[in-house]
Amino acid sequence: MRGALGGPRVLLRRLREVMAEPVSAQERLDKIVVLIAANMVAEVCSVYVLRVDGRLELYATEGLKAESVHNTVLAADEGLVGLVASEANPINLSEAQSHPAFSYRAETGEEIYHSFLGVPILRAGNTLGVLVVQNRARRTYSEEEEEALQTTAMVVAEMIASGELSAIARPGAPEPAARRPVHINGAALNDGIALGHVVLHEPRIVITNFIADDVNKELKRLEASIETMRSDLDVLLERGEVPDAGEHRDVLEAYRMFAYDRGWQHRLTEAVVTGLTAEAAIERVQSDTRARMLRATDPYLRERLHDLDELSNRLMHQLLGKDYTPPRDRLPENAIIVARTMGPAALLEYDRKRLRGLVLEEGGPNSHVAIVARALGIPAVGEIANATGVADPGDAIIVDGASGDVHVRPSPDMEAAYVERVRLRARRQSQYLALRDKPCVTKDGVPITLLLNAGLAVDLPHIDETGAAGIGLFRTELQFMVAANLPRTAEQFSLYRAVLDAAGDKPVTFRTLDIGGDKVLPYMRNEEEENPALGWRAIRLGLDRPGLLRAQIRALLRAAGGRELKVMFPMIAAVEEFDEAKGLIERELTHLRRHGHKLPDRVEVGTMVEVPSLLYQLDELIDRVDFLSVGSNDLLQFFYAADRGNKRVSGRFDPLSAPMLRVFKVIAAKSNARHKPVTLCGELASTPLGALALTAIGYRSLSVAPSAVGPVKAMLLDLDAGKAGKLLGPLIDSPAGSAPIRERLKAFASEHGLQV
Ligand code: PEP
Ligand code: MG
Repeated sequence: MRGALGGPRVLLRRLREVMAEPVSAQERLDKIVVLIAANMVAEVCSVYVLRVDGRLELYATEGLKAESVHNTVLAADEGLVGLVASEANPINLSEAQSHPAFSYRAETGEEIYHSFLGVPILRAGNTLGVLVVQNRARRTYSEEEEEALQTTAMVVAEMIASGELSAIARPGAPEPAARRPVHINGAALNDGIALGHVVLHEPRIVITNFIADDVNKELKRLEASIETMRSDLDVLLERGEVPDAGEHRDVLEAYRMFAYDRGWQHRLTEAVVTGLTAEAAIERVQSDTRARMLRATDPYLRERLHDLDELSNRLMHQLLGKDYTPPRDRLPENAIIVARTMGPAALLEYDRKRLRGLVLEEGGPNSHVAIVARALGIPAVGEIANATGVADPGDAIIVDGASGDVHVRPSPDMEAAYVERVRLRARRQSQYLALRDKPCVTKDGVPITLLLNAGLAVDLPHIDETGAAGIGLFRTELQFMVAANLPRTAEQFSLYRAVLDAAGDKPVTFRTLDIGGDKVLPYMRNEEEENPALGWRAIRLGLDRPGLLRAQIRALLRAAGGRELKVMFPMIAAVEEFDEAKGLIERELTHLRRHGHKLPDRVEVGTMVEVPSLLYQLDELIDRVDFLSVGSNDLLQFFYAADRGNKRVSGRFDPLSAPMLRVFKVIAAKSNARHKPVTLCGELASTPLGALALTAIGYRSLSVAPSAVGPVKAMLLDLDAGKAGKLLGPLIDSPAGSAPIRERLKAFASEHGLQV
């Protein structure tokens, strides 16, 4: 660039001096605009700051009328400045006045300027304001000048983000948005409310040195780190540790492709040439990428931008050569972990006593980390776009795992409202606790067995805490899902034994491995399937490759030596599959007996009922099994042909609809008639309203999430099951057309003072 005062590097050096001067924020901003205008031979340089009300306020100017500072406030979409802010993209025009978005404010005196260059002031992809230069002449700003202004905007972004400008906002005017309260709604992953402070799972690297002392040296640092990162990726992909196919490899291949992308390297180099340090250059490019990512609607493009963002992260760590993982066992009090994504094992490493909540940018209800969050009882919310860009370490944050709301830097009113809700919940919790040792019998004397759903060692204390009657569903796949490698038989054995020890006299029903579908094991090569939910999963995989299933059965039989063992199989679709699976148990029993192992005193074998084909084989099935367990999650999915993991359809059909309730009722009626125990272990039983309906249609055993034991039990103790049955019977049997059953049940609950 031909700037009269020595180009962008000189400008950056001067800016550094200004940033270090002990002057007020206003004086600093005033000096910055003077410096930029002089350096770029512009007649005008202005800084507009985005305020909490979404408007853009002129905070400093060189060239426009001085009295317009803090008085000129633009609407979010007003004029070219509004356009730069909303699109987060530079606008460079030699004749601004002919642009359709052009408008001017008379009080600034800007109507005489023709050329316009505006760039967004970005930080972690968020727009904090707009930096503008203008000239009277119809001048074309070069690409280098545009680049230089963006680089300068980065320095201004740090100043705004520091919160320093709040002190110079006009009294009564809305503050700069940089530190504003942010409310985002995402996917509720685990119920509960947490108030605390942000801990970034992968802390952003705080750059202290933006401005290069020696550009050549910075270029060399950048090149060297890109080279190392490339060869690391090459080694990783070629060493044979990453499976030949599968998601992990695809992701790494994408990273490698981008790592060799010339455009990306060019942008980084350009940023260094304008005078930034290598790390500041990476941050600049990353911030642009994030800004585009947040606005991209095309999922393919978003994914690619995501890869680029991730690559910048790798490069940054490569460059600074430090381990930025926070010490997981030394969390501050009331820590709320904010992450883009996280594996289940990582969550388990955090200090449980200080961990209060979890916020993820990605991660739906079926993600493995969500499963662990539920097992740990941590309020969690997923699908919060740019959470790691919005939240700074130490910020106050509220996680509402019931509604899926996250509030970063909440207003005092919001915080007070939540404190009140937490108090209410605590009161309710203590009421539930008081019910812990009460027998679970309805008001009209029907005993209900209330069991727990579990799957990890961290679940075990819940048996005692809740006073549940045992474990109705132990999802053995969870141990496999959270592990980095396939758990060995000895590890399975020790978990199963720990579970039986913790349960003591209470029964535990183990379910054999239910993998495949949405339950993916990262270390197991999985074939691409068009319809994984209908694919090679659960018992199908177990029967076709019996090695894994047999090893598991052996571990279960040995762990239960001298005690009772209850085992059931997932996804059974035909009675022959049950026979075959049960045959494997017999074979293992024979094997263990022959080798003199201590055997279980009794083995009960049952099955999940979660595939609709079983509904037409119930008689044969009931003859064969010792017990049944209804998986309402999958049964609903297959019954209505609506993918449980697809948000567009998963809520479309109500499990409390007449057709579904008829199904549940038939299963209960047939099992009860033949005196075969039946439990319902899907999520439906974990809601008080669902439990009400199930009890009304004949279920006497429910297996629920640990957090649901209290609310479900409280409802059952007040329930007149006979009365509820009388209400529901005709509603289920009568033709459709009356008010939805859910609404009728709610009305019944409120008439009878039941908390649902
Ligand atoms: C079910 O399908 O209802 C069930 C309990 O099993 P999972 O949720 O583990 O598939
Ligand atoms: Mg299931």
